[in-house]
Amino acid sequence: MSKKIIIGNWKMNPSSLKEAEKLFNQVAKFVSGIKKTEIVICPPFLYLEKLKKFARKISLGAQNAFGGDIGAFTGEISGDMIYSVGARYVIVGHSERRAMNESNDDINKKIKASLSAGLRPILCVGEKIRDENHNYFNLVKMQLEECLKGVSKNSISKIIIAYEPIWAISSTPDRKDATSDDSREMTIFIRKILSDKFGSEASKIRIIYGGSVNEKDAENFLKNGGVDGLLPGRASLDPKKFSQIVKICEALNK
Ligand code: PEP
Repeated sequence: MSKKIIIGNWKMNPSSLKEAEKLFNQVAKFVSGIKKTEIVICPPFLYLEKLKKFARKISLGAQNAFGGDIGAFTGEISGDMIYSVGARYVIVGHSERRAMNESNDDINKKIKASLSAGLRPILCVGEKIRDENHNYFNLVKMQLEECLKGVSKNSISKIIIAYEPIWAISSTPDRKDATSDDSREMTIFIRKILSDKFGSEASKIRIIYGGSVNEKDAENFLKNGGVDGLLPGRASLDPKKFSQIVKICEALNK
């Protein structure tokens, strides 16, 4: 099995390159002794190339990519472009992009284009609400099936699935805390779908949890949530909190 992974999603923060360099360098200093945990930071596109030179133990990821390779697509950024500036991961299907009308079909194209560019897609799935009839399982199943349609067994191990229940994400109004039980139940379900679809290769896919993860609950999610890592958003903007999450993960790997 691959190493456990902690992925920071900076979203549209911070507002200048200078601040981005400062934040990144602080994290890099705090995590300099880390050996067993993979660390990825996903800053806004514009900062990727500049941060690459400080990266050392930290891999870089983008927060989106276009679902094609080159051409007349004003304002878009392709997987090849992301790869060429040194990033190796890309978040696709984040709920904040799905809220801008991104469909499972769009996400499927983004995954295929990112894989052909040599990137590792981090596919976000998750429900808006938990209804009494448990329809949220069907929704996550549909997201996985449609987003991963036509992806070959050979490349599936490059994909990471991030379970991010929207009701637990920090920017959701009236959000609620998810528990490690919520995470474990869904992770088992996701693994079953992946193994039905991809057979034994599915065991190589890392499944991680995201939704207001912080330095206080990271240990519980990692120990009891059935996950191979975490995807903090807000906490990744605080170098101490983010590196504490990384260190908690490292300590559990011993
Ligand atoms: C996210 O949106 O990817 C996320 C997990 O954010 P937060 O940790 O701020 O809820």
